[in-house]
Amino acid sequence: MILPIMAYGDPTLRKIGKEIDKDFSNLPDLIENMTETMNQANGVGLAAPQIGKAIRLFLIDASPFAESDELDEAEINFLKDYKRVIINPEIISEEGEDWVFNEGCLSIPNINEDVTRKDTIIVSYLDENFEQQEETLTGLAARIFQHEYDHIEGILFTDKISSLKKRLLKKKLENISKGKVEVSYRMKFPKAK
Ligand SMILES: [Zn+2]
Repeated sequence: MILPIMAYGDPTLRKIGKEIDKDFSNLPDLIENMTETMNQANGVGLAAPQIGKAIRLFLIDASPFAESDELDEAEINFLKDYKRVIINPEIISEEGEDWVFNEGCLSIPNINEDVTRKDTIIVSYLDENFEQQEETLTGLAARIFQHEYDHIEGILFTDKISSLKKRLLKKKLENISKGKVEVSYRMKFPKAK
């Protein structure tokens, strides 16, 4: 089932997500519906707050990035298969170089801005079987993880841009909240009349 994606301005996007356990209601269905929703919107990630649930759960599917012709073959092969269900994650460390990448977000359609983050992270999380995993991620896989992790902390990528750019975007963001935006997937707009 395709779920509506909450647009910028929805209060759930600003909540700090709660940890979940195995007994969280209908978790397999929720994961399946979120996967379908992410794929249909061509997203590389989707966090539970984006579908209205303030819990520490997100999905990653890096395969759309594998289409990029700017990447080397090793990274393309890695991203092609990098699909994860991430529950109760922790970012253990962020290291390496500062790296600028032009980010976007399914909750903030048609806006892309450069965001600076570290290029290497060590993370731990529970997978869909509630088994503990630890991974070192670099490049785009790290970038998606950092962006999605921010969602479960109530943070959006537009919080991380310069105050000048924020001012320039203010009107566009208001319009997104009102539903005045062209978008090809199902959304819920907090200020739609
Ligand atoms: Zn996002």
